[in-house]
Amino acid sequence: MVAPIDWELAATHVNGHACKGVPTTFIRPPMAKLYFNYSTMNAGKSTVLLQASHNYIERGMQTYLITARFDNRAGEGRIASRIGIGQDADTFAAGEDLFAKIKARIDDGPCACVFIDEAQFLDRDQVWQLARAVDDLGVPIMCFGLRVDFQGNLFPGSAALLALADEMREVRTICHCGKKATMVIRQDEDGNVLRDGDQVQVGGNESYVSLCRRHWREAVGD
Ligand SMILES: [Zn+2]
Repeated sequence: MVAPIDWELAATHVNGHACKGVPTTFIRPPMAKLYFNYSTMNAGKSTVLLQASHNYIERGMQTYLITARFDNRAGEGRIASRIGIGQDADTFAAGEDLFAKIKARIDDGPCACVFIDEAQFLDRDQVWQLARAVDDLGVPIMCFGLRVDFQGNLFPGSAALLALADEMREVRTICHCGKKATMVIRQDEDGNVLRDGDQVQVGGNESYVSLCRRHWREAVGD
């Protein structure tokens, strides 16, 4: 369940100043900010991202979508939501210079907003690169990512974004009890709750369930 959040904020900055007759290259959002939209698993953050990007496209503006790269295929990524919509995206790898990447995209043509999915996988340097891109290139950047891992620890990218973002919003979902879910458990294929393991698990048969803190503590036996 996705509660309404004001993801249109960045768009309204642009929309409010979208001067008619001005070449699109001169349309720059006057209030570029670094946004962090955080959530737990399965809260619909990719859906929110794709909808926000679509709002720009609908107004005749261009966006730049980037998601995490987990294999060697350079550039080829896709942001997909569980409700069935998706969009091709560029990718970022560990250690890649995102200021340079975004600058190259902007030099290539107008870009009203940059969207980054799986932002929890950014490293601290990359979050600083995003902050510089906002400040020095004047482009709004909206990051979407998980706040904590299955052990209740902040992801590196999320820790840096919590420190550096200008605006933060929570994409909400609920626990089975109806309270807001802020935590996540990792389960093996038989439904056993996993307490140990790498923070990032790619391609396994694990599944994730989002819970409120009390039910997370019950599930992990804490
Ligand atoms: Zn609960």
